Amino acid sequence: MGCYDTVNTHCPVCGGILGLQTKAGKCNFEEFDIYSVPAALAEDLSEETEHNIEKCKGCETEYRLFANVARVAMTLLKIKE
Ligand SMILES: [Zn+2]
Repeated sequence: MGCYDTVNTHCPVCGGILGLQTKAGKCNFEEFDIYSVPAALAEDLSEETEHNIEKCKGCETEYRLFANVARVAMTLLKIKE
């Protein structure tokens, strides 16, 4: 069985619930609001692929999510000398 996380939002046309799934990240079957999405999930869902298109069950409008995921600086943490 595949694992995934879900990002939820509402259809702006009819108000129906849209749940877009991604296998990026930890895949703990967690659900996130569109305004608080982990960067790895946002980056995966922003890819222009067929997999990232969700059709509203209420009005059949098709959507995908998009975020301009910035490149970030990382810090090296010493674990053991
Ligand atoms: Zn709709």
